[in-house]
Amino acid sequence: MVKLAVVIHAEEEFNWRSGFSRKNTKVSDCETLVHVIDSLTAAGAKVTLAMDFPFVTSDRGRAAIRYLRVQHENNIEFAAHLHPWVSPPFDNTIDEEHAKYSFPGNLPAELEYQKIRLLKQTIESECQREVVTYLAGRYGLGEATSGNLSRLGFKVDLSICPFRDYSHLGGPNFQGYDNRVFTRNGITHIPHTSGLFSSMPWVGAYLNENPAVYRRICQSTSFRSAIRLLQLDVRRLSPEGANFQQMCDTVRALRHAGQDHFVMSFHSSSLVAGSTPYTATPSDVDTMVSDILAFGHWFMVEQQGQAFLPQQLVGSSEIITADQLGVVL
Ligand SMILES: [Zn+2]
Repeated sequence: MVKLAVVIHAEEEFNWRSGFSRKNTKVSDCETLVHVIDSLTAAGAKVTLAMDFPFVTSDRGRAAIRYLRVQHENNIEFAAHLHPWVSPPFDNTIDEEHAKYSFPGNLPAELEYQKIRLLKQTIESECQREVVTYLAGRYGLGEATSGNLSRLGFKVDLSICPFRDYSHLGGPNFQGYDNRVFTRNGITHIPHTSGLFSSMPWVGAYLNENPAVYRRICQSTSFRSAIRLLQLDVRRLSPEGANFQQMCDTVRALRHAGQDHFVMSFHSSSLVAGSTPYTATPSDVDTMVSDILAFGHWFMVEQQGQAFLPQQLVGSSEIITADQLGVVL
């Protein structure tokens, strides 16, 4: 049985190429977002809305939450998504708008804790539900994050992006991870599904089935030339940078490699033309919406998939531990 979680990064619109500013808190009308969620749930999917501080405190975000929590009571989970540069409390003794601190795991541990704490509290009071699932902004897990999440009662983390390395930007390196769900220190980690692709299709297929070989390539001193030689590309299961057929290909490739839990993700701001690099025009937004809905239908109906919310995996006997992953993380 294949299982799908849809995770939407619900956040403000800002120019991704212009750095990070505390002033960028604009949240537009959520009509398209709500339409997409209504349509996905009608196809049998369940949706996780991972919200950041500007979204959950905006009039438009709050109106969407009020509607969604009544309309889709058991098919929606509200999670916390931390964009630290727009999420109080602020500490003016460090330059919080510096790119380094856009990865919240790079903040001083106590400041990361306080930001997550206030965000969780704000979402819980708006949604009237306990928040147990966390998604770091820019996938920025850090050394103290796991302990902070445990202290705050979180049970699930969605921040791992398998095969990707953000260390050249000051962020985490996830090349040691693959797509398997696992638990560590009481937190269930559900990675953002990602596949490896190459212009030589057998290379991608082989590496998806043998992620340990990919890890060895990444550890080798000449790995950049190996990656170039193999023309390797990491593709997230997302309509951002992939079309409907490519998303289906990602699922097929990873199913073949034994994967059964999938996370399809995108940003709420991609549904507002001109906000993210993926949708410059209204017609791009229309295309993305139709790809999202086609994928939801394909997975849930044609593949007879089962929908899940991240919180539903907590305590599941199917989930392996970090030790059983068999990799050094
Ligand atoms: Zn984000």
